[in-house]
Amino acid sequence: MNTAYLSAGSNMGDREAYLREAAVRLNSLPGTELDRLSSIYETDPVGFEDQAPFLNMVFRLRTSLPAEELLDACLGIEAEIGRVRTVRWGPRVCDLDILLFNDENMETEKLTVPHPRMHERAFVLVPLLETDPGILATLKRRFPGFPGVDLEDGIRLYKTIQGPAAFLEGK
Ligand code: ATP
Ligand code: MG
Ligand code: MG
Repeated sequence: MNTAYLSAGSNMGDREAYLREAAVRLNSLPGTELDRLSSIYETDPVGFEDQAPFLNMVFRLRTSLPAEELLDACLGIEAEIGRVRTVRWGPRVCDLDILLFNDENMETEKLTVPHPRMHERAFVLVPLLETDPGILATLKRRFPGFPGVDLEDGIRLYKTIQGPAAFLEGK
């Protein structure tokens, strides 16, 4: 079994519904279970700032899928939910990024793990640390100079969730 941490984001339409749809679809992948999740946070756009605020959260999966297959599944789920790629870092109904996959380092044409920009994004780090406070030691070890960002800037708690089952059921 592998442990994967995923960042999910949406800033178009019914943002929370898209995050839930992503969670439901991830939880139905073969050999995969949504094991933990963070609260939902509302965050200011980063990179391309002239767009609507995001909802972001982090999922922890237990999965028998290898990392490249999990990435393909994430890209497939984004497309099924209706993502259309326009400008880099632009508006999207759903972005699903693999943050960490076990304690592995990977760098292929398609996939870099740990996600190379995660340590400079409060919208990733705050929900990630909520999901698993024990990950702090890993982040400090893997990213010299961690955190590369103010963890209180541009991020607000939007909604707390009573665990994976409640979220999947629409609560
Ligand atoms: P960012 O990666 O800065 O968050 P983004 O999520 O908007 O930007 P996308 O358009 O979603 O970027 O993805 C572009 C490509 O990034 C994907 O097709 C995928 O092959 C590649 N990629 C590399 N590493 C990862 C990763 N860890 N998680 C998700 N996609 C990745
Ligand atoms: Mg992204
Ligand atoms: Mg992405």
